Amino acid sequence: MKKYIILSVIIVAIGLIISGCGKKQKPMDLYDMVLDRGKIVVGVKEDAKPFGFLNSNEEYEGFDIDLAKQIAKEIFGDENAIEFVPVNASNRIMLLNSGQADMIIATMTITSQRAAVVDFSVPYYYTGQTLLLNKKSSISTLTDNNLKKVGVIFGSTAEKMVRMAIPQCMITGYKTYTDAVTALKENEIDAIATDEAILFGITMDDKSLKIINAPKYSKEPYGIAFRKGEETKRLRTIIDKIITDMNDDGRLNSMKRKWLK
Ligand code: GLU
Repeated sequence: MKKYIILSVIIVAIGLIISGCGKKQKPMDLYDMVLDRGKIVVGVKEDAKPFGFLNSNEEYEGFDIDLAKQIAKEIFGDENAIEFVPVNASNRIMLLNSGQADMIIATMTITSQRAAVVDFSVPYYYTGQTLLLNKKSSISTLTDNNLKKVGVIFGSTAEKMVRMAIPQCMITGYKTYTDAVTALKENEIDAIATDEAILFGITMDDKSLKIINAPKYSKEPYGIAFRKGEETKRLRTIIDKIITDMNDDGRLNSMKRKWLK
């Protein structure tokens, strides 16, 4: 009798192992996962005022931060049900795709190249690229002969845009906006190229710098990035609806007035 019981236990165990091995585990739906966890993990910038930056109390603030809070409020009824993870232009896709964030809200332009590796929400903000100069600079056009060296942030869309718009210039990459601004002020470069909205944030704090008085040379619609796939689709659809509602009821506009006066 004992022999039979042991044998049946072994058979059942083998059966369970075989059936378990045969099945490919379906990744858990991101929306369910976020609800279970009770908070969303959002990758944000910490040096891109007025979108994502750390204030004097080391708290995250800005347009992207307010958007994340509105999303948390809609999902959990609590705008603080968020964990912020700092990202920059060169590591945000890697951090997202390795599961370290549920989504990225970090001045990220929707491009077809990026859309091959991540899924984007509907756009929530529109800007375009231009140049930051020292206030005393005489440069006034993209074809100016004095515009020889332009700084960009690694991993941003600026490198490609500058190559197209200012083909005569030499491009230098920087990891952070702080590093690029230091280089500009020390005349290592003649200009910094990035989104006008970010340059606007830099000039808010530093009156020795100015934005060139020339038309923007690119279009940069900002979107929230998600990992590609079925498991993120439900959360993305819910967030698309939140953004559309915020656009329709004026919340996005009042955020623009608050941060980009
Ligand atoms: N919006 C541009 C981009 O996505 C530049 C700003 C940034 O690096 O986030 O590349």
